[in-house]
Amino acid sequence: MRALRLYGAHDVRIDEIPEPETRPGTVKVKVAWAGICGSDLHQYARPAFPADFVHPLFGEPGPFVLGHEFSGRVVDVAADVDGVPLGALVAVEPLIADGTCAACLRGDYHLCERFGFIGLMGGGGGMSEYVVVPAAKAHVLPAGVDAETGALVEPLSVAWHAVRRGGLGTGGTALVVGAGPIGLGLLLAAKARGAAFVAVSEMSAARKRLAAALGADLVLDPADDDVVARVRAAVPGGVDAGFEASGAGRAAVGALLGSVRKGGTAVTVAQGRTAEFDPNLLMLTEIGYTGSFAYNGPDFPAVLAALADGRLRTEGLVSDRLSLDEVREKGYEELLAHADGHVKILVGIDPGA
Ligand SMILES: [Zn+2]
Repeated sequence: MRALRLYGAHDVRIDEIPEPETRPGTVKVKVAWAGICGSDLHQYARPAFPADFVHPLFGEPGPFVLGHEFSGRVVDVAADVDGVPLGALVAVEPLIADGTCAACLRGDYHLCERFGFIGLMGGGGGMSEYVVVPAAKAHVLPAGVDAETGALVEPLSVAWHAVRRGGLGTGGTALVVGAGPIGLGLLLAAKARGAAFVAVSEMSAARKRLAAALGADLVLDPADDDVVARVRAAVPGGVDAGFEASGAGRAAVGALLGSVRKGGTAVTVAQGRTAEFDPNLLMLTEIGYTGSFAYNGPDFPAVLAALADGRLRTEGLVSDRLSLDEVREKGYEELLAHADGHVKILVGIDPGA
């Protein structure tokens, strides 16, 4: 089968590799759509793993297939698997954990000491025709959720988890800094969970328009607006929760902490520049500053339920659709050069799967 594998910085190749076979506890997925994520770009531009890296849970050497946001159709089911029917469309949760460390035993498998991602560190990936995944990680798409939307479930689950970490629910108020795919997902997840007011701060004209179209109550540009003053004018005392999804460093963190109300919560979701801030502010305001990493048990099912009943609507999130042969130039290289003009780029491996 054809698979896009990463060999080194800016070096991806489409290889012919053996089709994976099901093992006990797994299903085989014929990939329909795969998304390109910011962490793919980090990895593509500057691979984090040495050439001889072998992840303890995957136990295989590179080059690794890329693509950890993907959907597809189940074409084979191991004999010992229940609950994932042959022929089902699924969204794959690519986060793999050991199940034995203290974090896993607490239920925080996303904080596993040895976590790994299918499509980054081994185990195949979405940028190939077939992937074999643990059955528990194949989430059946509910009626009305198509395969293309299925490829968005992973990034939407990152956002959903962060909104939960921020404690945001019905009637809540929020600021989202950065309106890339995760920032827009935060906006959508906050609204789906009943937030009454969500402000978005973003510099790209295209992303600002999209944030407004997707339901932002206030769209600000840090180049033109005093974000903290505008947020506090809209919500006296400040918003319940703030989300940092830009990675822009000190200016973004300053806007975040300045906009959250006393006793509220600030959440860093994006991986980006380091930033200094004064911890005395946290003491004086009792703002809780926390982080949000990936997702865990409730998040994929919650996103699928919200997509099925229409609370989550994703129209406009997909900015381009490519073929596997186009991924390098029109996907990775284009996003590295002109991220601001894009939101989510999807790759159609077999859109009719
Ligand atoms: Zn673990």
